[in-house]
Amino acid sequence: MSDFDHVILRDLKTDEYEHSLDRTTLDVLRKIPILPKLVELVQLPTSMTSRYAMLGSDLRVTDRQFPSLYKIFRKACEVMEVPEPLFYISTAPELNAYTACPDKPIVKMYSYLLDILEEDEIMFVIGHELSHIKCRHLVYTVLGELISTGVLRVIISTIPGMGALYTPAEISLNYAFYQWMRASEYTCDRGGFLACQNFEASCRALMKLAGYSKTYANELNLDEFFEQAKAFDDLNETALGKIQQILLSFGLTHPWAVLRVRELMKFKDGGDYDRILKREMQLAKLPEPLSPNEEVGVSSGLAAALPKDLKFKNPFKK
Ligand SMILES: [Zn+2]
Repeated sequence: MSDFDHVILRDLKTDEYEHSLDRTTLDVLRKIPILPKLVELVQLPTSMTSRYAMLGSDLRVTDRQFPSLYKIFRKACEVMEVPEPLFYISTAPELNAYTACPDKPIVKMYSYLLDILEEDEIMFVIGHELSHIKCRHLVYTVLGELISTGVLRVIISTIPGMGALYTPAEISLNYAFYQWMRASEYTCDRGGFLACQNFEASCRALMKLAGYSKTYANELNLDEFFEQAKAFDDLNETALGKIQQILLSFGLTHPWAVLRVRELMKFKDGGDYDRILKREMQLAKLPEPLSPNEEVGVSSGLAAALPKDLKFKNPFKK
């Protein structure tokens, strides 16, 4: 970790750095009438399962277990003003980190990702994860677990009168969820950058996610990666919306790493990063969200078609 004093982002509000696409797509997700009930049904059992699974299989990082890593973690919590969650490392050859358990959040990083990152880059990843907590994304990411495990299909099938709407409702939720999830990554990349306060390190972390080789690691070229990211400058928001649709067809939960760097460059070059660091953003008028694109329209249309007062059977209760 760099020796410079990180600016503690006092009273940082999430809407100061929230990506406009994140705000727009989350609004769509929130308007789906069955969502709050779905989240309420599954939050507790999935959270408890994750908590004990990590306690039983992973290594908890503390001031006596990987103390230098814990120091980076604590610094990121302090900078972002996020109450310290539990932090686990899992031994696995995966380039991944995630946050789980909305009621008592846990950050988890895989050992391979840890091994290829420098300290400031690790702080970017931790800041990204803390941002998911700060933005209260975890409440909605529970929905992803419902989709991937097939529980969503079971729940929807128990709703009286859902017969004809069963497939469209599932598609609608699926569509709105993955669209928002990818948009939320842009917000949390900004959070990671705000935590480590090192633009090059933030982008290097994303570059390594895009392509990494231990053998050729000393030949990685960040400037060349920036040039690659600039290829997206020609795209307007409509074209980006189309790209989001393509990502959906690939079933991806994260935007392409190069696209993420391009968004981070815009955040820095537009001056928002500097304004936040100087704590000027709270006084400025926050930007208006983007108008929903065609992709968003699909979800909101389906949401409007769903009954407002759906009754559920809880599949976790006998
Ligand atoms: Zn993320």
